[in-house]
Amino acid sequence: MTLDELSRSPGRASEAVLYDEVGDDPEARASLLETMRSRIDEMRDSIRRGLASSEPSRTGMVGWNAKQLHEAPDPLGAPLLKRVQEYAMAVNEENARMGRIVAAPTAGSAGTVPGALLGVADHLGIPDDELVMPLVLAAGVAQVISKSMFIAGATGGCQAEIGSSAAMAAAAVTELLGGSARASVHAAAQALMNTIGLVCDPVGGYVEVPCVSRNAFYAVHAVSAAQLALAGVESFIPPDEVIYAMASVGRMLPPELRETGEGGVADTPTGRRVALKMAGK
Ligand code: SF4
Repeated sequence: MTLDELSRSPGRASEAVLYDEVGDDPEARASLLETMRSRIDEMRDSIRRGLASSEPSRTGMVGWNAKQLHEAPDPLGAPLLKRVQEYAMAVNEENARMGRIVAAPTAGSAGTVPGALLGVADHLGIPDDELVMPLVLAAGVAQVISKSMFIAGATGGCQAEIGSSAAMAAAAVTELLGGSARASVHAAAQALMNTIGLVCDPVGGYVEVPCVSRNAFYAVHAVSAAQLALAGVESFIPPDEVIYAMASVGRMLPPELRETGEGGVADTPTGRRVALKMAGK
């Protein structure tokens, strides 16, 4: 399935994804929905653990930011924004501590979908059962991107990894809030289009800096994309063409900017110092 085909679904986009995956088989359908329900529980667990912990990761670069933000006041008067950021960072700090998370689509980008989807749901008091189908759609978006292009920072830069997670989250939030299949797909396209060029530059090769805060930023970015789509704002570039553009930029990126830890913020004096320290030099 392409994003264009998904956008033309008569009902919810998630129904089209589900049908594409399991057809009319009721047992397979129930099993897939049960799996998605358990993924939401696991996302919740990682958020809970992440918000409660200030234990540093092995490198000492991250581990307390989610709790710090959670316990801080809200000077902007923007509780949704704060909650989305907290949830996203909680998940990625759990990942940095080697805790259990749901890769969505990868471990490095695992905070974006729960940050945006569960953050919005909790802000609006929407129960977890209503998150199952939006999560099916998120998985479907990842599948479309990964079938046509790539979703790993090592192959396409962070635009492929966080860009994909932001696209997944944007589609899911749009559907959660009543958006049509077309709106959900355009939210995904806007989210992806506006991450193009984002490089993968983890300090020391550890998925911590900039990854933890990057998930917080792009979870908010996904919510912004949903907001635009729900207002009828569409991507001028057709969604499937956005995927190809992202892939084209990914191929142009030098190896230094594709998860090798040799470019971007990894190649700063501080980044190099951390890399040497962790290598025992
Ligand atoms: S910078 Fe690289 S390792 Fe970190 S989240 Fe982005 S793609 Fe993943």
